[in-house]
Amino acid sequence: MYKTTIGLEIHIELKTLKKLFCNCKTNFNASSNLNTCPICLGMAGTLPKFNKKEVLHLAIKLGLALSSDISNIISFDRKHYFYKDLPKGFQTTQFFNPVLRNGNLQIENKIINIKEIHIEEDAGKTKGDNIDFNRCGIPLLEIVTEPDFTSYEEVIEFLKSLREILLFLDISDAKIEEGSMRVDINISVSKDNLLGNRVEIKNVGSFKSIKNAILYEQERQIKLLEENNIILEHTRCFDENKNKTIFMRNKETIKDYKYLKEVDIKEIYIEDDFIENIRKNLPILPNEKRVFYKTKYNISDDEIDILFENILFYSIFEALCVKTKNPREVINLICGEFLKILNKENIDIKNLNITYIANLINIFLDEKITRDTYKKTFYEILKNNQNPEEYIEKNDLYLIDDENIIKDAIDIVLEENKKALDDYKNGNLKSLKFLLGATLKKLDYRANANIVNNILIDIIN
Ligand code: ADP
Ligand code: ZN
Ligand code: MG
Repeated sequence: MYKTTIGLEIHIELKTLKKLFCNCKTNFNASSNLNTCPICLGMAGTLPKFNKKEVLHLAIKLGLALSSDISNIISFDRKHYFYKDLPKGFQTTQFFNPVLRNGNLQIENKIINIKEIHIEEDAGKTKGDNIDFNRCGIPLLEIVTEPDFTSYEEVIEFLKSLREILLFLDISDAKIEEGSMRVDINISVSKDNLLGNRVEIKNVGSFKSIKNAILYEQERQIKLLEENNIILEHTRCFDENKNKTIFMRNKETIKDYKYLKEVDIKEIYIEDDFIENIRKNLPILPNEKRVFYKTKYNISDDEIDILFENILFYSIFEALCVKTKNPREVINLICGEFLKILNKENIDIKNLNITYIANLINIFLDEKITRDTYKKTFYEILKNNQNPEEYIEKNDLYLIDDENIIKDAIDIVLEENKKALDDYKNGNLKSLKFLLGATLKKLDYRANANIVNNILIDIIN
């Protein structure tokens, strides 16, 4: 039996306004090479200035969430390699004094250890023959795990969980497909307890590809060993169309990179106060929220996954819970009608009127409208920002609560359906249902069925 061993190196693009070592903006949609300056273009004679305020804050937040040791003193280093998207000829990273070490993250039934997390700058982006340097110098965190995974399931669970934390902490958009979260997979197989030689698969672009790359590589390596080959450590990439990993290059060694201390940036001290302040303001983390939702609100894991997948869903849910009486009804709405509408219509959920939605939920919970009206009005809020009370009033959709109106309708129905009434009196229960249906219809379905049923029975008896 072969055992698979996997360790991850994950790059996270940080959500900062400014770049790592200059004042350039970081917005994604800027036209090519607009967000550049002599510093991030690496011109000789320029001096980097560490964006401590934004970057360290985010790094420490993550460190606290992953129970990492936080260094009191950090520094930067130069990692040398030559590629056209790296104008300086080296990447500024942390090799000797990373900001975080020895973290961990619990997944279903094991703990994944995180060897270190360090800060580094991103490179530019090649676009055909051109290079866009807007991304050059954007701050990244690189998360390096221990080789603690044994299957793709564990890897994906870890990445989803990590992603939730990043979203909750507002550290990164963490979208694999858009490159704000980039995953390198180190994978080896072995028969005994020794670790096998590993292969690195670079930048796998979706959860599906991660699964397929691991499955493919596992099999490829086992086959090689079975045929008595030695696996040489090297770097591969995953071809989504061919669904296989492909040789890219031989593995760089530490010597190749010629790491040197970045002397242009002084050592940075991290005061305990700075850390404590961040700790005090740390929000509740996804795992804790999950337990709370399950036990207190009776929400399922699948429903929670939906909430946590998009941080806006989560914040909408939280805001609605504060203003309504029943969280269960809120989750029904979000995972049901809400998703359904979003699938069909282009709706800006950043600017939803939470008060309107909450009021509507409460009106429904008070049984003042039918489920149909509830859905229709909800749509009107999302699509046209309608005030629910006004909309329901204007369209005369409130349920009839005047008993006299209900009684009058029942009288007419009984008059019109003498046979059904006799049948019921002779013991046919179905006829009662028929009479109830006829009355509800007469009332344009604007009355509460239970109330009508009770009055109906009263009158007949
Ligand atoms: P290097 O210094 O060569 O970059 P690291 O110790 O930093 O090696 O490990 C890089 C990544 O490779 C980590 O995610 C680690 O968990 C993983 N890794 C190390 N050894 C193995 C192995 N034998 N099989 C699978 N993954 C491994
Ligand atoms: Zn710049
Ligand atoms: Mg390494």
